[in-house]
Order: sequence, then C-alpha cells, then structure tokens
Amino acid sequence: MLGLIKYVDEVNLVHGATHTITDPTTDVVKSIEQRAYAAGLKLLRAQVRHLGTEQNLEILKSIAAYLADKIEMRFKTEVADLLSVKEGGGHRATGVVLKGGEELLADKVVVAPGRDGSAWLTEVLKKRRIKMQSNQVDIGVRVETSDVVMREINEHLYEGKFVFNTSVGTRVRTFCSNPSGHVVVENHSGIMAANGHAYKDPALGSANTNFALLVSHKFTEPFDKPNEYAREICERANDLSGGGVIVQKYGDILRGRRSTAARIKEGFLEPTLKEAVPGDLGLVLPYNTMKSLIEMVEALDKVTPGLASEHTLFYGVEAKFYSARPQLTDRLETEIAGLYCGGDGAGITRGLAQAGAAGVWIARAIADRLERAGGKEANAAALL
Ligand SMILES: Cc1cc2nc3c(=O)[nH]c(=O)nc-3n(C[C@H](O)[C@H](O)[C@H](O)COP(=O)(O)OP(=O)(O)OC[C@H]3O[C@@H](n4cnc5c(N)ncnc54)[C@H](O)[C@@H]3O)c2cc1C
Repeated sequence: MLGLIKYVDEVNLVHGATHTITDPTTDVVKSIEQRAYAAGLKLLRAQVRHLGTEQNLEILKSIAAYLADKIEMRFKTEVADLLSVKEGGGHRATGVVLKGGEELLADKVVVAPGRDGSAWLTEVLKKRRIKMQSNQVDIGVRVETSDVVMREINEHLYEGKFVFNTSVGTRVRTFCSNPSGHVVVENHSGIMAANGHAYKDPALGSANTNFALLVSHKFTEPFDKPNEYAREICERANDLSGGGVIVQKYGDILRGRRSTAARIKEGFLEPTLKEAVPGDLGLVLPYNTMKSLIEMVEALDKVTPGLASEHTLFYGVEAKFYSARPQLTDRLETEIAGLYCGGDGAGITRGLAQAGAAGVWIARAIADRLERAGGKEANAAALL
C-alpha cells in the first residue's frame, strides 16, 4: 500500500504539488508524542504533504489536461445502472447504462462513485445479490480553536492524528486538521454536516485551526443501518438549526446550557462558519458520544494547553459515513467478473491518496489481465 501511496504522491508532484512535506521524526514531534502518551493519547506519526483546496484543484486540472487526448471523459453524466449477463454460475459485467438510456459497452467496468454515490452503488449491487458489509459509523463534531493554541502541532506536524480510548469504552480520533482553516457545511444528499478545509495561500487563511473529533460507533446484529443512525442524528441538528449545523462553546457544553449569539460573541474566537446557529449539541448527541468528546478534549488539553478552554467551539454534527463494502478480491474485483470497485464509495478508502492508490491498483490489475490475455485493446469504462 505504501508503494502505491508513494506512486500517487509522485504523480501529484509531477502535476504541481508542493515539495514541502512534514518530518515526523524531529525532537519536537517526539516530545509531543511523549506528552500525548502520558495523557492516554496515541499519536499516529505520519508525513503530511498539504496540498490545500486550491492547489488540489490545479493538480486535478493538470491531470485532466494530460489525459484529454488519451481517454474520453464525460462530465455531468450520471450512470443509472450496470449491465451484466449471467455466465456459468455467476455474472459478468458488460457495461453501464446512462441516465437517459444510452448504453456504454465494456467488459471491464470500474465503479468509484465516492461517498455521495455509495447508496446508489449499494442499491445496484444488492439488486444483483452481491453481499454488502456495513456496521460502523463515526459521529462527532468539528472543533475550532485558535492557531495560537495549535501552533506547535501546526508547525511541526501540520496535522496531529491522535486516538484515545474513553472510560465508556469508545474510541475517539482526531481527523482532517486545518491550520488557519475554515469550517464548512458538507451536503450529504440533503443532510448538512460540518467539515473543514484550508487554503495553501496564507492570505486566504483564518486565525483559527479546525479538526474533526470522531467517535467510532460499531453495531452488532441485528442492527445493520449505521449510516441511517448517523443521518438521523445529523437531521436532528439540521432541524434545530433551521437546516444547517449548530455551534456551541465548550464552556457552555460543560455548563449544560445552550450557546446564544451573545455568548458566542463574548468568546475569544470568531467562528469561521458564519451561518452556524448557536444552540445546544446536548439535545442532539447521545450521552456516551458527548462524554467521549469531552474526555478527548480534556486529554488533548494536556498536549495543546488551551484546547479545553471556555472559548473552543464545537460544530455539530460531523459524521463519517462508511460506505457499505462489497465483497472484493485482492484485485478489487467484485463477484461480478470484470466489475471493479474502488475509492470511498466502495468503503475501501477514506482519503484522496488512498482513493488514488485504489484506482492505480485496479488499473494495474486490468492491464495485467489484458496483457496475459494477449489483448491490446482495453475496452474498459472508467467512472471516476
Ligand atoms: C470538505 C471535504 C474536505 C476533505 N478534505 C480531505 C483532505 O484534506 N485530505 C484527504 O485525503 N481527503 C479529504 N477529503 C476526502 C476526499 O475528498 C475523498 O476521500 C476522495 O475524494 C474520495 O475519492 P473517490 O474517487 O472515491 O470519490 P469522489 O472524489 O467523491 O468522486 C466520485 C465521483 O463519482 C461521481 N458519481 C457518483 N455517483 C455517480 C453515478 N451514479 N454516475 C456518475 N458519476 C457518479 C460523484 O459525483 C463524484 O464526482 C475531504 C472531503 C470533503 C468533502
């Protein structure tokens, strides 16, 4: 996997990615790791190459320009269904049908519809009796604090990835940290959830750092609807905030009272998500989820003093839906011969580099198979 990630990183570099990368082996990082350890937090040391929202767009444009005369790409073209035929005891992929009825025939089909398309993928695969696994969802908040509080981690790690086991048996992790970033609303097919991003250009930055705090929820039989569970929690926050996300000061959470516009204004932090509505996340999040978040913030405060301050903001709800995962071979081929699934939508990746790596892995598997079959013409439809 690491080899594939390195390959994806090299492609990004060729297409304009920054050469700056963090070094997680310095003495400062070792000291952060030791303080974390003492507070019951595990630091997952990783190299981070921060592309930034705007640089990522330029890289994708450059890759698209490079591919333009090599493959046919269609945008704003929805795939309605897959095409397959019965063969032997199973099925074989024969292409896809577009919304509107046009058929694209192919004997190798790669489907990577992302999180937004995961419900669609589940539906079309279930129709063909492909078993799907799904028992986990991560629910939490987007935390926003001052760059002042996060300075050491921002400078030396860019993103501090920590995990923590709580007293109520849950595991909490930090995720997707954005120094000088902005909290944003993410639209999950009509359900609004918190997220965050940061620009590469300091002139576009804020004075705040945001990151997700996520509590893993794993369910056992008979319950098999983790995403629906998380969606309902997000919907409750949407209802209470008039369709968006709630913002609450950490001090108000500890006091068990709602935040109001006046209380937020009294705080030291200016929320970067202006449309977030001051309210009470205690009305939204289950007790153990909230308790887990509070325990995590108190532990993190020992590594980044000031995080557990009155003024820190919680935006809720943030949720990471795990797409249902179809049964796949080690080459990411489904039980339908010639149908490959990759990326976040198939529940096998959770980030840009991993999703890219899955795509490369599938492309190599197909190239290898065509080469072994002696075929020169790759009749493959790739949905990216
Ligand atoms: C606000 C935000 C910030 C993020 N920040 C980071 C970060 O800092 N670092 C990081 O590593 N990751 C980050 N991510 C996650 C990252 O964007 C995803 O992990 C990655 O894009 C997954 O790639 P993918 O190819 O699997 O899916 P996607 O990039 O979602 O692409 C899937 C595509 O398929 C299309 N599609 C879906 N269904 C159909 C259909 N039926 N027919 C045709 N097309 C269809 C979709 O419209 C979409 O264009 C962030 C995500 C968000 C939303």
